[in-house]
Amino acid sequence: MPDLIEQLRQIVGAPHVLTEGDLSAWEQDWRRRVHGKALAVVRPASTQEVAAVVKACAAAGAPMVPQGGNTGLSVGSTPDTSGREVVLSLTRMNAVRALDTDNLTLTVEAGCILQNVQEAAEKAGLLFPLSLAAEGSCTIGGNLGTNAGGTQVVRYGNTRDLCLGLEVVTPQGEVWDGLRGLRKDNTGYDLRDLFIGSEGTLGVITAATLKLYPRPAAQLTAWAAVSSMEQAVRLLALAHQHLGAGLTGFEVMGRFALQLVDKHMPQLRVPFIDQDGVPYAVLLENSDSESEDHARARFEALLETAFEAGCVQDAVVAENIAQAQQLWHIRESIPLAQAEEGLNIKHDISVPISRIPAFVAHTDALLAREIPGVRLVNFGHLGDGNLHYNVQAPEGGDAKAFLREQEDRVNHLVYEAVAEHGGSFSAEHGVGALKTDKLARYQSPVALSMMRAIKQALDPQNLMNPGRVLAMPENS
Ligand code: FAD
Repeated sequence: MPDLIEQLRQIVGAPHVLTEGDLSAWEQDWRRRVHGKALAVVRPASTQEVAAVVKACAAAGAPMVPQGGNTGLSVGSTPDTSGREVVLSLTRMNAVRALDTDNLTLTVEAGCILQNVQEAAEKAGLLFPLSLAAEGSCTIGGNLGTNAGGTQVVRYGNTRDLCLGLEVVTPQGEVWDGLRGLRKDNTGYDLRDLFIGSEGTLGVITAATLKLYPRPAAQLTAWAAVSSMEQAVRLLALAHQHLGAGLTGFEVMGRFALQLVDKHMPQLRVPFIDQDGVPYAVLLENSDSESEDHARARFEALLETAFEAGCVQDAVVAENIAQAQQLWHIRESIPLAQAEEGLNIKHDISVPISRIPAFVAHTDALLAREIPGVRLVNFGHLGDGNLHYNVQAPEGGDAKAFLREQEDRVNHLVYEAVAEHGGSFSAEHGVGALKTDKLARYQSPVALSMMRAIKQALDPQNLMNPGRVLAMPENS
């Protein structure tokens, strides 16, 4: 489509329309398992440019793939192999537009890197609490597109809960200015919530008004060894009782996940790794609005009660920020340690917290029975009922062959178990192109039909990230 490429060059400037050379940063997914081919990568610098690009693509019938940091884990932001899709990269739109400290809001463009948003809040003495291991690369537009979770959801909620308003370019190239800093606004359907989590299938988010919070006076981190998943859930209930809104992090890590960190990153020194009878460890974070002494006293009271109740075997509270960072580093190193161990099958699932012990017991036993030798790397945001319930090939086996032969079966066993326990096959990573078949299987026909009606109404040409999330009749 030479005419379209020429129009795009006129809109954003020739250096910002990439058609040749190494485009792998935009064309392959984060895990490097999917490699696409774009018609062009277009990098607009303003909302008006995004609108003009979308209009030109719509007129030419060219499908568009909105992209932020391309760190998504469901293959929603990379082009397919057709060579027809235009990647619309938002990373040049990275300005902070407005700070309102009385309203506790920050308005930023969609291509702002999450870490820069956190830093802009910090500079104003405030907190933007969204936090995840990809924060140095992912963008706020991508966070909104996927409704990202991360490590602070137990206190502050998902990205959806942190957003008050949006600016969006519709699939027709119109601009919807919904950038409002209102905490109350019951005036019709909630369009903001429709776009959040829609993974670029309903429009392009170009800016957002985000909620800020006071910074805590002190933050303490503890690591507890627990004897079972039941005890980890009991500890969570106690932590809610003792810390209230101070509980800002509650992560669980299975022993095998920690053994992998110990094996591949021995310098990280995993606490209690040599103790027997400790199948899980829990990382807790307590953010206190008063002082460090107050935070420590509350943490100690919690841990004392937990010891007495028998739900903690051993525990350590970080003495300083460096120690706290080291504990978090261990938790965040699990995916890397797992990758070092070899290819694996990932599941980002959620189950009501009360049902997690039953889900884990059932699914661990099921997989051990059906696929002998299989190794389970189970960790995640227990405070949100979200587990990364991953499956590693049997030790010494050919991991590539294992994935080829067993991936579909493992996925089926795990996702059926999730459904039986009232859970979701995608807690925080979205559906993307990777799990559209799962959406079709696990969403109810009524929900699917409403979703298709929304997509059809907003994007009747089916050009906005087509084939991702929802298979419309023409791509099914
Ligand atoms: P991209 O990957 O570029 O895009 C993701 C989706 O959003 C795509 O469907 C894309 O089309 C759409 N999109 C992007 N920008 C826009 C826009 N401006 N308008 C409309 N749609 C858009 N996720 C979590 O939820 N919690 C975690 O704890 C977490 N940890 C991670 C750790 C690592 C090491 C990595 C690599 C990823 C992790 N992720 C996590 C996944 C990922 O970082 C998030 O999904 C993140 O929100 C994606 O942001 P991005 O800018 O990279 O988006």
